[in-house]
Amino acid sequence: MKTLLTGARIIDPSQDLDGIRDLLIDEGRIAEIGQDLKPGGAGNSNMNVRVIDLKGLIVTPGLIDIHTHFRDPGFEYKETVETGSAAAAAGGFSAVACMANTDPCNDNRAVTNYMIQKAKACGLARLYPVGAISIGLKGEKMAEYADMKAAGIVAISDDGRPVMNSRFMRMALEYAQSLDLPVISHAEDTDLTAGGLMHEGKVSTELGLPGIPAIGEEVMIARDILLSAYTGAAVHIAHVSTRGAVALLRNAKAGNIRVTAETAPHYFTLSDELLREFDTRLKVNPPLRSADDVLAIKEGLRDGTIDAIASDHAPHADTEKALEFEYALSGMIGLETSLALSLRLVKEGCLTLSQLVSKMSTNPAKILGLPLGTLRPGAIADITVIDPDRHWNVDSQQFHSKSRNCPYENWPMQGKAVMTFVGGEIKYNGSSLADHDC
Ligand SMILES: [Zn+2]
Repeated sequence: MKTLLTGARIIDPSQDLDGIRDLLIDEGRIAEIGQDLKPGGAGNSNMNVRVIDLKGLIVTPGLIDIHTHFRDPGFEYKETVETGSAAAAAGGFSAVACMANTDPCNDNRAVTNYMIQKAKACGLARLYPVGAISIGLKGEKMAEYADMKAAGIVAISDDGRPVMNSRFMRMALEYAQSLDLPVISHAEDTDLTAGGLMHEGKVSTELGLPGIPAIGEEVMIARDILLSAYTGAAVHIAHVSTRGAVALLRNAKAGNIRVTAETAPHYFTLSDELLREFDTRLKVNPPLRSADDVLAIKEGLRDGTIDAIASDHAPHADTEKALEFEYALSGMIGLETSLALSLRLVKEGCLTLSQLVSKMSTNPAKILGLPLGTLRPGAIADITVIDPDRHWNVDSQQFHSKSRNCPYENWPMQGKAVMTFVGGEIKYNGSSLADHDC
């Protein structure tokens, strides 16, 4: 059956489109975009077309979250492929990339296959596994990139653990480049960050907490930029959080180095000032930075230095967060708040809606080499429908994620995904998920 979406404002940065149009879906693909498309079309009876009136809403290419943790296999008490996929669909994400720090970790094709199969069976969102750079994320021996790529990985990363050995990183970049796989860098010099609990600065001094210096992130970004320039391999810097990091990336891009970058909503929404409450939900890695760093992240987003917004969705059980600040695990969930927090940037005038869609769909697709992030006729019909005026309050009990480590409880939000299509099928509609099998 065909589906006709009528009357929406369609924003597709891949074809410079921002206007009221109709969009026709046929056999899971975008068939046509135009003014006043007739559902019957040439030779078709209206019976065979489902018409959905989307007046007042925004239609974009399906959102893609380039950095999530689904914790499956191994930590299913935090999240499973099923609950993670449900959270993705409800957050407006038709596709997600999942990091390799599961247990066992994704350093071989068996784990890659498991993740892909489970997501397919569930059928709520596309799951693209990220393979490990090193066996066991130990930074010693290279994983089988070719084997994992054949099984479906779209990038490699030891995210959660930095690759400290520069020689090893160089070899990994060279091998990954030969396979056309981007390398995602968790940029952290653990000798510089060891023992730190929060951003090193005025607030950490006042609180007497050991600091994590910005330089601990920047040193590694500088190294990975140099290694990218030297090897010609594509490096993607995960969760950028500091002013210095943005400056390094800006400079590298001006020199045509193959580096891309993402940040997460918490790095442009929250600062270390909030840690005076010692709320462990605010403990993340890299840590929440200073108010000045928050400004710099916004500047980096605005001028294109930061290509993508990723949630770094990192679910943890209550028992892993309800501990003294020192012992609580790092990370917060984000799939179901990412879009609304990012829309604040549009309201502030930091980004246009089209730039936002680039950073949450078109650019992530480009970075990972996916045939998504576009509404061009012929493209796969992954689509997100956004109600920009929907007001809602964060209530994590309503979230589909299995974990509740969300620092935005009771925050008023404006803007919400109200429909998520994957391959032309509605997977999320208003507040309910499509029937799924797992
Ligand atoms: Zn990381």
